[in-house]
Amino acid sequence: MRKYLFIILAGILLFGFSNNTTAHEGHKKDTVFNTVCPVTGEELKGKHFIKYKEVTYQLCCKRCMRKFDKDPEKYIKNLSKDGKKFIGNNQPK
Ligand SMILES: [Zn+2]
Ligand SMILES: [Zn+2]
Repeated sequence: MRKYLFIILAGILLFGFSNNTTAHEGHKKDTVFNTVCPVTGEELKGKHFIKYKEVTYQLCCKRCMRKFDKDPEKYIKNLSKDGKKFIGNNQPK
């Protein structure tokens, strides 16, 4: 009986581990939409994130996060469809 219990426990542990790592990697790489800041068009360094309608957006600083949070739709329009280019014309001075 003990042997079986051990095998079952080992199986649960292994399954849990492999499951966790794949989910984690996918999260890191795939879910951030943009590569430039939707507020200022600056390059991003991976420090500031905000979630809006199930999509994670990256921003360059806390100031941009606050602006984005107030009017997400306005700033999302500043990004190209793939999120890689800044196409907005309402840049701050
Ligand atoms: Zn910014
Ligand atoms: Zn900023």
